[in-house]
Amino acid sequence: MASPIQQDKKRSVKSVAVIGGGVSGLAAAYKLKSQGLGVTVFEAEERAGGKIKSSSQDGLIWDEGANTMTESEIEVGRLIDNLGLRGKQQLLQIILEPLLWRRSDAKRNFSKVSSEHLHESVGNFFQRHFGKEVVDYLIDPFVAGTSGGDPESLSMPFAFPELWHLEKRFGSVIVGAIRSKLSGKKEEKEEKKGYSGRRNRQRGSFSFQGGMQTLIDILCKELGNDNLKLKSKVLSLSYNHDGNLLNNWSISFTTSHPKRKDLSLDQYFDAVIMTAPLCDAKEIKITKRGNPFVLDFLPKVSYLPLSVIITSYKKENVKRPLEGFGVLVPSKEQENGFKTLGTLFSSMMFPDRAPSDQYLYTTFIGGSRNRDLAKASLHDLLPVVTSDLRKLLGAEGHPTFVKHVYWSNAFPLYSHDYGTVIKAIDEMEKGLPGFFYAGNHRDGLSVGKAIASGCKAADLVISYLDSSDNKVFSDTSLGK
Ligand code: FAD
Repeated sequence: MASPIQQDKKRSVKSVAVIGGGVSGLAAAYKLKSQGLGVTVFEAEERAGGKIKSSSQDGLIWDEGANTMTESEIEVGRLIDNLGLRGKQQLLQIILEPLLWRRSDAKRNFSKVSSEHLHESVGNFFQRHFGKEVVDYLIDPFVAGTSGGDPESLSMPFAFPELWHLEKRFGSVIVGAIRSKLSGKKEEKEEKKGYSGRRNRQRGSFSFQGGMQTLIDILCKELGNDNLKLKSKVLSLSYNHDGNLLNNWSISFTTSHPKRKDLSLDQYFDAVIMTAPLCDAKEIKITKRGNPFVLDFLPKVSYLPLSVIITSYKKENVKRPLEGFGVLVPSKEQENGFKTLGTLFSSMMFPDRAPSDQYLYTTFIGGSRNRDLAKASLHDLLPVVTSDLRKLLGAEGHPTFVKHVYWSNAFPLYSHDYGTVIKAIDEMEKGLPGFFYAGNHRDGLSVGKAIASGCKAADLVISYLDSSDNKVFSDTSLGK
């Protein structure tokens, strides 16, 4: 039976629930806490981090989800500075990186774009500008390696909002890129006068000593155990407006209890930030003033599955160890027997990730190119990986270490009709006062964009609570 936690409804510190302890939820919570608000993060799993997870064994350190991130979003630079993480950054320069992982305002700019291009695919866009070969040998492997998608299923406005808007603004991607670079420099000069942290901004992709988990660990440490509830899956949310504009949200969640498993508890909050993937958010029962708030208007999001296989080889067994950070395999190469999407040369990217006599590789399989293969067992996948690595690098014999991680919903597919998802998220927020949605289903797929999304949601919560304060004051003063 549920055992409600009694709370003082008249407490002065406002409190916010953040559902989901991925990087967007943690970034939102950190920002709220640093602004003096009470915050509780509910995370269903026994660990925080969501799609960011680093592990280690026998001198190897690997990432099972995101491997690198960028600082294209100003919120990322601020977060890294505030967390004191500059000294732990491990820098990497990837030429293609800015294409996908740059600042996105797809949603905000959505209405400005003419309807004829709303459904343009990534493949069509790049073919128009650069020809089919560029699509087949550059864009196809790039989108497969960074989003699990393929050029035809991905929507240009959602997957590459910056390039798409450049064309709309300047009529040409190249002219647009040059002009925005110039205006970017001007902007940067101006920013330097204001935010000093911008000066430290890293240009390329990076990770941290110890892997991406370092960012998650420090965020969790800053939040503190009391503010982070692990193994706490949110089951229901209820908005009950009772004249008092604050403290309207109650949340019930499962928690592990020494005697009774899956005990359900209730807690009260002034606002809620939801960062759970939409497929999970849909499972949460929401009520508004006692009536069900059914999320049936949320369209079904399509997800791309991905298997990640981490292998290490003795250096002497790799005959052609390519210099660089990795390879992305064009789908055309399936004709030549390649089945993987690509492999990161993890120990070349970050030499501390493997003992000096070994190479560490991270290989991706599946995405929209091969959904069925993504779901296969390690038994079936290992020969695929070792075969591709043999052809690419001359890696002979058995790897000395193997780890398989399967992400059933690795990436939401930003498909041609993704605009309906964004509209439904807006509708959810409009219908539920004090409810905000953030994360990689809304503002972009990368870690940087997820962080920026969380920070923006935190700002919106702060404005909402400030305006609620004024409303309470004016309602009280009017004797309502
Ligand atoms: P998530 O990380 O999905 O967090 C959501 C959290 O909500 C989860 O922890 C989940 O357990 C929790 N949750 C769900 N339901 C509930 C509930 N009912 N109650 C409580 N909690 C709940 N990005 C890059 O920038 N660079 C990369 O190199 C890169 N590589 C990637 C490789 C892989 C294999 C994958 C899968 C992703 C990669 N990404 C990369 C993308 C990036 O990692 C994600 O977009 C980002 O981490 C998403 O963060 P998030 O907080 O939005 O969501």
